[in-house]
Parts: sequence; structure tokens; C-alpha cells
Amino acid sequence: MRIQFLGAARTTTGSLYLFEVRGQRLLLECGLFQGRRGESTERNRNFPFDPKQIKAVVLSHAHIDHCGNLPNLCRQGFGGNIYCTFATRDLASIMLEDSAQIQRDDAAFVSKKRAKQGLPPVEPLYSAQDAEKAIRQFVSINYDRPFPVMDGVTVTFRDAGHILGAAQVVFDVDENGRKFRYLFSGDLGRGGDDILRDPQTVEDVDYLQVESTYGARVHSPKASANAEVGQLVRETLDRKGKVIIPAFSVGRTQQVVYTLHQLTLAGELPRVPIFVDSPLSVNATEVYRLHPECFNETIYKFLREKENPFGMENLTYIREVAHSMKLNDLKDPAIIISASGMAEAGRIRHHLANHIGNSANLILFVGYCAEHTLGAQIMSGRSPVNIFGEPHEVRARVGSIDSFSGHADKNELAGYVEALTGDIKKVFVVHGEEAQALAFGETLRAIKPKAEVLVPEYQQTVEL
Ligand SMILES: [Zn+2]
Ligand SMILES: [Zn+2]
Repeated sequence: MRIQFLGAARTTTGSLYLFEVRGQRLLLECGLFQGRRGESTERNRNFPFDPKQIKAVVLSHAHIDHCGNLPNLCRQGFGGNIYCTFATRDLASIMLEDSAQIQRDDAAFVSKKRAKQGLPPVEPLYSAQDAEKAIRQFVSINYDRPFPVMDGVTVTFRDAGHILGAAQVVFDVDENGRKFRYLFSGDLGRGGDDILRDPQTVEDVDYLQVESTYGARVHSPKASANAEVGQLVRETLDRKGKVIIPAFSVGRTQQVVYTLHQLTLAGELPRVPIFVDSPLSVNATEVYRLHPECFNETIYKFLREKENPFGMENLTYIREVAHSMKLNDLKDPAIIISASGMAEAGRIRHHLANHIGNSANLILFVGYCAEHTLGAQIMSGRSPVNIFGEPHEVRARVGSIDSFSGHADKNELAGYVEALTGDIKKVFVVHGEEAQALAFGETLRAIKPKAEVLVPEYQQTVEL
């Protein structure tokens, strides 16, 4: 078996791994590379292999850095099956549709700039039709059901606890009589998630490919998150302010809604109007509701005995722009949850522009913000900040909670690897910025002294 690391190698973005077994080719993930425009365009448009020669794709979860380039792969001739869990298929279908829209807007923006230089327009990376076509190639398989993906390769999905439907991928390979197990961790959750089950422990692992997003960082304990949210929100509502929460549409929004729901039922928050204002967030929440098979015991019980975890009387989901605009006229205390989580795009920017200048309000960050994004600027205490090209003084209180992370931290990752059984021969560390990946590589050498630990470079090929 041969593996080529074609993405998320010494970085977190653009997951793409090419496997070769018995002369057949299989892709693990086909994510969008997101970075500087020139490099992104080049990497996303051109595959370093012929898509027509790929037999099948296996997908761990629906985040765009893992599935976002599938429409392009299918457009360039890949006609095989794309295997994933049911929830991943449903989430990917709304994510790819949304991504196609972003591609279209992005191409229009670039074409406009080019027109001024007398250059011809550029085509979007893919269209909504391409995304729809890719979705038709999806084949869904439940967790813990082994299934053959090609000669000599059987795949089993196991819980990864990262987002709805996210899976670790177990490859059981029979290479002309030589049998071994290759485990891909996918993106791993912290465990103890409000909604999802914990990452499962996999047995008899021979080779491991593990993520390292936070390979050198430790998060705050998860237990304190709900209490912190409760206190910050309550204080703001008490002084008649509004709470603005930038949140990713998939995962974080549902987690925040469920937290607010629990706090409200416990009498720790007054029943003020709560709005989820983002079409993608609304769609994603509907997908969450459709997949209780991915829920942990506690939320499953909540659903059976109480009510819809993502719905309450004082909560309104907003799709239409006109309805979203009406939120500008709100006078009384309220909570607005909107996307994107880094405040780089989407309706959240309107809400920030409207509310950031009032000291009664709270801007509450519940996720990671990449360097230079509007979210990161606000979190760092900068004032004024530019929103839609206008300077805005930051007078609102700014809060941030890092324990909601969808990714395991250094200790949680180490605990995950320690719990795996089997005689691990090689470990490949992927999906982490170089410093995080290298540091986690060192940690692994201490935990698994008998294993060879590798932090593959971009395009590196390894033979097993
Ligand atoms: Zn992910
Ligand atoms: Zn990822």
C-alpha cells in the first residue's frame, strides 16, 4: 500500500490523501484548500492525479476543508462512489451548495477586477449543478458497519465526536495475503461533548494517521463552558444589553442553542428573544434534528423526555433577509447568533456593525478566529475596527470561550492514541500547523516508543 499526502500536511487545510492498494487508487477526503488566493486557486483547480482513475472516495466528515473539492473532482471525471455516514451526506449536501455560491461570488469578484485590466473573466471552481451531481455519488453507511470499498479494502466508520456524522475511518487491508489495519482519526472531538458521543477506541491498529490541530495546546476544561456562558449572558441581559454571538453554522451554533436552552430551563437565563440568523445555520440545525442516531445518551434523553433540544418558544430561526433586517429595530434585550464564526462573512457583520458601539452589549466568541480576521481583531481588543469599510469604535464588552472547541487538545489527543490497542508500527501526523504537528510528533514518540513517527511533508509518498 502506498500513501501520498496531498493536503493537510503540515497545515490544517485541504485534506487530501491518495491511497494505492493492489494497483487501485482510493482517495481519503477531498477538501478545499483555503489560504492565499493564488495558491488556493492553483491547488484546488488542479489535482496531481487523474480523477478518472480514482476508484472510490472515503469521507470522514462534512467540513469544507475535507469535502469541499468533491464537486470539482466529479466535474473532472471521477464517477465512483463517495462513502460517508448518513449525517455527513446530509450536511455535505447543504455545505457544498453553500460553497458553490461562495465560489460563484468569488469568481465574480475576481472577474470584475480582471475586467479593469482588460483581462477575460474567470470561471467559478464549480457550480451548484456540479455540487448537486457530486451529492448523487454519495453512498451512506452507518457507524460500525464494515463494508468493502474496493478489492482488498474494507472500511468501517467509528465515532469521532467532532461534528454530527464525523467518523474515524478504519481501513482493513488485505494486500495479496498481507493483512493489516490502518486507522485515520479524522478530526477528533474533545469527548464530553454536549451533543455527540465520545470518540471511540479502535482495536488492533497497525498504522495510524492522526490529526494534530491542537497538538501543542491545552484547552480550558469543558465543564466550565456552560456556566461561563450563563454568567456573561445574564449580566448583559440584566443591564438591558444585547448579546451577539458569531458562531459557525455547523456544530457550534447547535451547541450554543442547546446550551442556552438548558440554561433557560434551569432558570439561569430570562426568556428573552433568541435569534439564529443565517440560512446555512438554519439548514444545518434541521440536519442535526434528523440524526438523533449520532446523539449521546444525555441529549437523546432530553429529546425523548423534554423537547427539541434546538427549539424553544422564545427562539426564532431566520432565513429571509427582510426578517434579518428587522432585527436592527429591536429595542429590548435579545440574543442573536449568526455566522460566520470568525465574522469574516455573512450576516454577523451587520449585527456587529449595529451593536459593537454600545457598551451595554456583549460580543461573545465561542470558537477559534484565524489571524487577521475581523473576529480576531475584536478579540485582541483593537478599536476601532473596520466593518464594510467603515471604522467602528468597540465599546461593547467582548467575551470569548475556548472550551467549546470541536478539536481535542494535546492531552486529549495523547489520551486517544494511548487508548488504541495493537502493535502500532508507524504513525503519520497530519492536519496541524507545522509547529503543532511537529510538537505532537514528539509527544507521540514518548507515548509509542516502538512506533516510527512521521510528520509528512506536502506531496510526500510513503510505502507501507
Ligand atoms: Zn472538521
Ligand atoms: Zn478539518
